Amino acid sequence: MTENFTNFIAGAWVAPRTGAYFENRNPADAGDVIGCFPRSGPEDVARAIESAQRGFARWSQTPAPVRGEVLHRVGDLLTQRKEEIARAMTREMGKVLAETRGDVQEGIDTAHYAHTEGRRLFGRTVPSELRHKWAMSFRRPIGLAGLITPFNFPLAIPTWKMFPALLCGNAVIFKPAEDVPHTAHLLVEILLEAGLPPEAVQLVHGEGSVVGKAMVEHPAITVISFTGSTETGAIIGATCGRMHKRLSLEMGGKNAMLVMDDADLDLALDGVLWGAFGTTGQRCTATSRLVVHEKVHDRLLKMICDRAERLRLGPGLDEKTEVGPLINEEARKKVEYYVGVGRDEGAAVLIGGERATGQGLERGWFYQPTVLGGVRAGMRVEQEEIFGPVLSVIKVGSLDEAIRINNGVKYGLSSSLYTRDVNAAFRAMHELDTGITYVNAPTIGAEAHLPFGGVKQTGNGHREGGWEVYDFYSETKVVYVDFSGKLQRAQIDTEAQIDTE
Ligand code: ADP
Repeated sequence: MTENFTNFIAGAWVAPRTGAYFENRNPADAGDVIGCFPRSGPEDVARAIESAQRGFARWSQTPAPVRGEVLHRVGDLLTQRKEEIARAMTREMGKVLAETRGDVQEGIDTAHYAHTEGRRLFGRTVPSELRHKWAMSFRRPIGLAGLITPFNFPLAIPTWKMFPALLCGNAVIFKPAEDVPHTAHLLVEILLEAGLPPEAVQLVHGEGSVVGKAMVEHPAITVISFTGSTETGAIIGATCGRMHKRLSLEMGGKNAMLVMDDADLDLALDGVLWGAFGTTGQRCTATSRLVVHEKVHDRLLKMICDRAERLRLGPGLDEKTEVGPLINEEARKKVEYYVGVGRDEGAAVLIGGERATGQGLERGWFYQPTVLGGVRAGMRVEQEEIFGPVLSVIKVGSLDEAIRINNGVKYGLSSSLYTRDVNAAFRAMHELDTGITYVNAPTIGAEAHLPFGGVKQTGNGHREGGWEVYDFYSETKVVYVDFSGKLQRAQIDTEAQIDTE
């Protein structure tokens, strides 16, 4: 019988007040039902918030180094259960095991990094402009953080938000994407096993337009962190703006790999295959545009098509599989739609361009790795995020033109340049209008101790990861202590501080 999973609210695993559930199926095999998960309603969100307020009152009083110890144990438990979680994640969202193991590892790294920040969480002590006056800043927790996450990194992205939020002393309410509730369930189990006070975390499953919306609109949740589509981010941004909420948005990308005529083409080939078809192209950092110098264009394109055509599609749990399915039928239809748009715009479908069938692939949401040649700047397949295994190839005559094309989209997450010319690489680092640039590596792959995020419509100026995210989840307070015993006025009595005797 199919298992009914529950929410985690007010310190207990509980059924939703709505009594309604949705099915979670394996995208590589639609007949494989993982379980039924709560289709929660606003009442469940309200209960979670009430409990989180109690959780916050206690957790925020726990010293930060001790909060860090809990996250240390979380990292150790994730390490112990890495293989089990990776397998559950592959079954749930389709990407291959090597990638889901990497996803869990990113959570481990984020936990261990958060642990050490518990002993820092620096404020600053600076000299005052007045004598016998002390000036310093320190960090305070903010309150309740609502975390809304997408399907493509079911463990890593929630940990990027949750671990720094908790380390800073906030309580969290977590709403995972509808396609990956099981991985979210396992993550919350681990937090509890590590000794997190139960009311410091709440897990509420359900639809974004119901549960996510209720969280964003509830005045008691003062911090929202969202990763997902630019369209949803815009809706959330409007509400948070109106309600004066602190908001971090991490949204779309249309990332380009630039390959110059002096590049190591074998290296670029490995990079583009990994960047474009890893996670079946469903990464916000996916290489969805390849901008190639005309002198090496035909050669590199042939190399790519030869290799991409032979990529092995299948269930991610099969160790021989190189490309898994798309997340669901809707995602596959979107890819099909864009391949049609590309054809209509005059692009050539060099390989792929079809649903993948045969050898059991018809049971899942598979689509062939697709390369569109003859793409020109300004076409929709060059501008819009497809979120699937589709690479648009654009021919250019110079680095300047390549940089212009890279920058000619509304997104600005990641970019990559393949060249052996150190001067060109340094110039591009400055001129490529993205939050991340890779030199001689594809557009994907972030490390936990560096900030992650993009410019333009990819984000709203905040970063995940690195030290920067701790700024987002804490409130800076400034304290002045005047121990002169008399009234001293800043900006006014400063002249008198100079000893002219
Ligand atoms: P994707 O295309 O990556 O699935 P979405 O933006 O649709 O991106 O979804 C990302 C997350 O946002 C999911 O957890 C989803 O349930 C949630 N979500 C969707 N719509 C809303 C909304 N109106 N308010 C809050 N959260 C939402």
